[in-house]
Amino acid sequence: MADPDCIFCKIIAGELPARIVDEDEHTIAFMDIAPATRGHALVIPRTHSVDLTDVSGADLQAVAVAAQRLAGRMRARLGADGINLLNACGPAAWQTVFHFHVHVIPRYDGDPLRLPWVPSAGDPDEIALAAQELARP
Ligand code: 5GP
Ligand code: ZN
Repeated sequence: MADPDCIFCKIIAGELPARIVDEDEHTIAFMDIAPATRGHALVIPRTHSVDLTDVSGADLQAVAVAAQRLAGRMRARLGADGINLLNACGPAAWQTVFHFHVHVIPRYDGDPLRLPWVPSAGDPDEIALAAQELARP
């Protein structure tokens, strides 16, 4: 269940302090110690899993619902104008803590966050090729 080397498992066990803002049977949510914006929180499943490809469907569902709950509170109580959900899966995708988590990041008009890529039209053949590889079966 718990990984003894995992800081988020230690938060769940109460062995490390955290500002907990939401809890249910399957998840807890707490404030990120290095917030991107005011109110930045993390939602995690109580059961240890490494990342998006490892988490159970039931835990993923519970985390999504908890993230939605927090997003509503961020709008209502913090005055957020929008919310970003972010998950980093693997070091190449910026993951630094290997206990599955979803960032819930309140956004405020005029805040300094920027998209990490510059949208520009892709090559249609390359898009089609990637689609072929991704599509079922
Ligand atoms: P990742 O980089 O894996 O997507 O996200 C990990 C997040 O956990 C980071 O935003 C980081 O600030 C946060 N974090 C790392 N260690 C701790 C900690 O001990 N307590 C809390 N509350 N957040 C942490
Ligand atoms: Zn863990």
